[in-house]
Amino acid sequence: MPLHPDRWIETRPEGLYIRPADLFIDPHRPVPRAAVSHGHADHARPGHGTVWATPATIAIMQTRLGETAIGKPVPLPFGQTIELGEVRLRLEPAGHVLGSAQIVLEHAGARVVYSGDYKRAPDPTTETFTPVACDVFITEATFGLPVFRHPPAAQEIEKLLASQRTFPERCHVIGAYALGKAQRLLGELRAMGYDRPIHLHGALLPLCRLYERFGIRLGPVRAATVGEKGKPRADLAGEIVLAPPSAIADRWARRLPDPLPGMASGWMQVRQRAKQRGVELPLVISDHADWDDLLATAEEVQAEEVWITHGREEALAHALEVRGIRARALSLIGFDEEGQ
Ligand SMILES: [Zn+2]
Repeated sequence: MPLHPDRWIETRPEGLYIRPADLFIDPHRPVPRAAVSHGHADHARPGHGTVWATPATIAIMQTRLGETAIGKPVPLPFGQTIELGEVRLRLEPAGHVLGSAQIVLEHAGARVVYSGDYKRAPDPTTETFTPVACDVFITEATFGLPVFRHPPAAQEIEKLLASQRTFPERCHVIGAYALGKAQRLLGELRAMGYDRPIHLHGALLPLCRLYERFGIRLGPVRAATVGEKGKPRADLAGEIVLAPPSAIADRWARRLPDPLPGMASGWMQVRQRAKQRGVELPLVISDHADWDDLLATAEEVQAEEVWITHGREEALAHALEVRGIRARALSLIGFDEEGQ
């Protein structure tokens, strides 16, 4: 008889704890030993001792948080199994951002997969999600409501290109998170044949360079800023500029020539959110699984039980129960509802 995972996995104030490995997963407080699924700030926090993560995630953490933010980084390539205490652990692609991993844990005859943030839609800038059969699947539910269905990215990119054709003199300034979304927009634009230089707010440059170092081709990019204070260039009429979401409606963007603010996020499906941010061109491009993919993935991995870390837990738990899959909300705290 395998030992049920609820006997060896605990939710503690620091986060999810794997007792026989003495290991936390994506803890939100500093701990001696952590496995980190991906580089977003709400999963990859500074101050841990030993950190197991993919080489890309380690590099992203060091770029964002500083070289000394991790006591002892242990890069673990996808598919390579290690033993931590009495647990076998390996990482498999989650398809969320570059280097994002599912964490596969085997102990006492049971296999548990922690998905981290994940998506199933194709993305030219990250590894493809690999489904792993398991007894317990620990999933996110950022977009866990039936209303959330993400359109194909190409359809949204076409909206941007159509707007550029309609307003050839306006500067299209698109809000995109620095890790993942900015690079995906570049990759998707290139996949649509857009080969002109794309201009980047200074805050987006370091991680774009990191992606290039890891072999992800983003095409010609230029700094959109000039001078020490990072003022936007005045000659960007008709161009596409990518900037952090906080910059698209502030003074920085208003200095661009006739700026047309857009934003790429799964949340752009909610009109109110687009309005609140002053977004004229909402692009529904998400790096998370949508409702259909959350359900399809839980069925595909054939889990007897699904534990839901954060997001719209109740709705997803109910829909899984209807499909004969036991479900439980873990209600972990510390994850960002914006769902980077
Ligand atoms: Zn994330």
